[in-house]
Amino acid sequence: MNASMPSGATAGPDGPRPAGEAALYQRLREHLAYLRLPDAAAALPTVLHDARSQQLSALATVERLLAVEVDATEARRLASRTHFACLPAGYTLADFDYTAQPGVDEALIRDLASLRFLDEAANILFIGPPGVGKTMLAIGLARAAIEAGHRVYFTTAEDLAARCTKAAREGRWSHMLRFYAGPRLLVIDEFGYRRLDADANAALFQVISQRYLKGSVIITSHAGIATWADRFADPMMAAAVLDRLLHRGIVAAIEGPSYRMRAHQARAEQLRRAVRP
Ligand code: ADP
Ligand code: MG
Repeated sequence: MNASMPSGATAGPDGPRPAGEAALYQRLREHLAYLRLPDAAAALPTVLHDARSQQLSALATVERLLAVEVDATEARRLASRTHFACLPAGYTLADFDYTAQPGVDEALIRDLASLRFLDEAANILFIGPPGVGKTMLAIGLARAAIEAGHRVYFTTAEDLAARCTKAAREGRWSHMLRFYAGPRLLVIDEFGYRRLDADANAALFQVISQRYLKGSVIITSHAGIATWADRFADPMMAAAVLDRLLHRGIVAAIEGPSYRMRAHQARAEQLRRAVRP
């Protein structure tokens, strides 16, 4: 402590502080701790220093202090939503190259990126052969939703069916259903890779049914909608699922070239040129 300080005074961020103010400062720190505002508490010395050196008004100072906590809270929530969503890759919609994929309607994707479909609990079906960017677009929209503050969960049809079947066996079926009903957006990737058995059928049907008109689903599938009935063990159930998905459904059929093949071809071309210049 500064030896020349008057008695009763303590050191503040800008040197000695009168006793009354020191007590006030201490109480403010206690308030911030009690309210669990750790980031505002950590920023307090800096904000008070800035308030003096920049002659900020009381209003501006309080705003600056709380803005620190709001920013930190928002960052924590974003990280937690991102962690919860289990996205399998870090793509954003900005990474999608429209010139490489003429089969994708850029205007439609931009419209979807406004996330209006979430307000309408509308569904999106990306249908097309492997490698055309279905999963990438689903992830891009999922990320946009997470960034806009929505809860999102990404899964594959196979994983969803397996988890529901296991939950049913262990008597946790209703718990599992509640889990899949929770997120504002549920992405079900790779529907129809495998013919579904009766249990998987029931799981998918229940999940889609209970989200119907309440929460959006994005489904990707390499199988054309006309063939879906064959992929369900029960064609009636297939019809019921499709009915719910398509009632407020946006179907984006991607007929363009495979981006994966494009990359393979470019590499093969490079190799050929290296071998035979
Ligand atoms: P699908 O789900 O239709 O099989 P993916 O979305 O998994 O295809 O895309 C295959 C690979 O090609 C991924 O690595 C993806 O990032 C990339 N890709 C596909 N389309 C594009 C595109 N238009 N622009 C950039 N990368 C793309
Ligand atoms: Mg895919």
